[in-house]
Amino acid sequence: MMTQMNVESFNLDHTKVKAPYVRLVGVTEGAKGDKIYKYDLRIKQPNQEHMEMPALHSLEHLMAENSRNHHDRIVDIGPMGCQTGFYIAILNDDDYENILDVIEKTLNDVLEADEVPACNEVQCGFAASHSLEGAKELARELLSKRNEWTEVF
Ligand SMILES: [Zn+2]
Repeated sequence: MMTQMNVESFNLDHTKVKAPYVRLVGVTEGAKGDKIYKYDLRIKQPNQEHMEMPALHSLEHLMAENSRNHHDRIVDIGPMGCQTGFYIAILNDDDYENILDVIEKTLNDVLEADEVPACNEVQCGFAASHSLEGAKELARELLSKRNEWTEVF
């Protein structure tokens, strides 16, 4: 029996999940009733595969920039340190299907992209570490399994 931990994903059995999937991690409610919905967008099967850093980094830039064209309350899209997925935080939208739709549209933008946004030393902290082709490969792979996103286990 694992000890209960503070971080929700530390209580998730990563050997039981089946990537790719989109999972609601939790909801944080503020004093005024606003709610932040945090999602686990898992792209690679934990402990079997991972994203290479340049591809992951470019996918991060592309999703961060493009997702905001499809939703006006994206709080954050951040990569997991284990390189298997991203966390997505959204304010006041409890519609899971809508989030899937936003992710799908954003990944289609990635396929259409001619360049990685903000991929330079002024706007990024590791501008040498990018791969547009790698990001597109991840987006293609994820879109090809669109019908599996709702199945976490
Ligand atoms: Zn960057």
